[in-house]
Amino acid sequence: MIDSHCHLDHEPIYTNIDDILNRSKALGIEKLLTICTTDDGFKNILNLIAKDPIIYGTYGIHPHETNNNKVSKEIIFQKVKSNKKIIGVGETGFDFYYTNSDKLSQTRSFTNHIEASIELNVPIIIHSRNAETETFDILSNYKKYEPKILMHCYTGSEDFAKKLLNLNAYFSASGIITFKKSEDLCNTFKLIPSENLLIETDSPFLAPDPFRGKKNEPSFIIHTLKKLSDIKNISVSQLDRITSENFNKLFF
Ligand SMILES: [Zn+2]
Repeated sequence: MIDSHCHLDHEPIYTNIDDILNRSKALGIEKLLTICTTDDGFKNILNLIAKDPIIYGTYGIHPHETNNNKVSKEIIFQKVKSNKKIIGVGETGFDFYYTNSDKLSQTRSFTNHIEASIELNVPIIIHSRNAETETFDILSNYKKYEPKILMHCYTGSEDFAKKLLNLNAYFSASGIITFKKSEDLCNTFKLIPSENLLIETDSPFLAPDPFRGKKNEPSFIIHTLKKLSDIKNISVSQLDRITSENFNKLFF
């Protein structure tokens, strides 16, 4: 299994990283992608990728943080280039549910991230909440450059998924698919081709059932994989292989 999106620099993971890595490896997790959310936080992303061969990282500014983290396209480019184990740009995108940062700063930041990812030819990891139209519009502007789009923790509509499939996007399923009342979302995952699917924990957030409400960690990814295998009617081992291959194809 590959956890395509986790925040190992967040607590309580960071101070318990050895135990958490041991549990991940015992389960057979072969890669962990730890996602950068602030410029300051990148230090610990670098510490983590140096710590263990299975950990890879990204550089980017979360849409919540764009008011206080203004970074140019050039900075994003340099930080990604600074280390071979930094393999993606993000997470970036739009969050108009909380709107912790204003719309203009989110838009500027998202634009810089998209353009840097295209120049770097690496995937862009996208967070989109209450912003389907805006997210699709901005990505469409860059269609001819064929950005490598990864929709993280996909919770969007069926219509949005169909439009994103036209941009050859990948979709990552999180623990949310295991929650009761996620029927619509599960039906959307049913129609996304398995070649476009990844899995993630988003730990320490969004623990899947039966751990809902607790602190999440990468080893809980098995519950999301199992649920996705029910949804897709593909065996757990086969879907494990497919989602891992998809990750490797997208990032390597
Ligand atoms: Zn995240």
